[in-house]
Amino acid sequence: MNRIRIAIQKSGRLSERSLALLQSCGLRFARSKDKLYWYGQDFPVDLLLVRDDDIPRILLDGVCDLGIVGQNIALEVVRECDGTGLEELRGLGFGRCRLSIAVPEQTQISSIADLDGCRIATSYPALTSSLLEKRGVSAQMVKLSGSVEIAPGLGTADAISDLVSTGTTLRANHLVELEVLFESTAALYGQKVSLPDEKQALLNRLLARLDGVLQAAESKYVMLHAPRDAVEEITRLLPGAENPSLMNLEGDPTRVALHAVCREALFWEHLEALKGAGASAILVLPVEKMLG
Ligand code: ATP
Ligand code: ZN
Repeated sequence: MNRIRIAIQKSGRLSERSLALLQSCGLRFARSKDKLYWYGQDFPVDLLLVRDDDIPRILLDGVCDLGIVGQNIALEVVRECDGTGLEELRGLGFGRCRLSIAVPEQTQISSIADLDGCRIATSYPALTSSLLEKRGVSAQMVKLSGSVEIAPGLGTADAISDLVSTGTTLRANHLVELEVLFESTAALYGQKVSLPDEKQALLNRLLARLDGVLQAAESKYVMLHAPRDAVEEITRLLPGAENPSLMNLEGDPTRVALHAVCREALFWEHLEALKGAGASAILVLPVEKMLG
């Protein structure tokens, strides 16, 4: 059957953004609050709502074709199975968090190198040890599924590797952040398998829509008036813009109207630089959808 099944987090930090992203790709679902399976209405893509930790396994078992989950969770499984099985298809930019090493306030450990031979409590043992190994550090992982931050106080670990947001939990447990090991965002994952042609074509269509949404989120449509002889300089000042369109301005042969799509973030500094180069009547519009 040529339908694609996507696993997303049922309720938690990634749920709303995952669903909103799929909806902005034009997907609509027949949903009911207590059902975990939402049927796609206009496009043959269905949703399975699950705990985020289960998503990598669901993909590996072939229960779903795609999943949206934090890289922190997915990479742990990728490392466990030596890089086989899962493939990151697109980074999604939301669900940002950092995996950090934290140590007790009173400790001899003052750098990552000092962790060699230490015990590290973490819910991400495979990811942590591979990140540390890349830096020449070999440590012993103490796997815990929660309350990692109490391990040093209990004497079962010398340090922890955990997701940190504000640092409040660390302080409450007399720990300090030593270094960020890894910055994570949510990503779209698929299985590393070849799909039947029709299903692959459907996946390609979905990915093209997703790329359009992701690009549109950063892109702006810029309209301005420019001196004819400053068009080249002004185009250079527009971040990520390709060839602009130029239109004559009735009654003023020295100036033109210039329209361009900027595919990178546009800040006030950019607008000030444009004005400095002679641009006037600068308008910046959001881009809702983009294809091709
Ligand atoms: P579930 O019930 O689905 O297992 P959970 O409690 O494990 O939920 P959440 O707290 O909702 O998970 O976090 C889901 C993901 O959100 C994390 O794995 C991580 O990728 C991301 N995330 C973003 N910010 C943070 C943060 N400040 N702390 C923890 N995770 C964060
Ligand atoms: Zn979870």
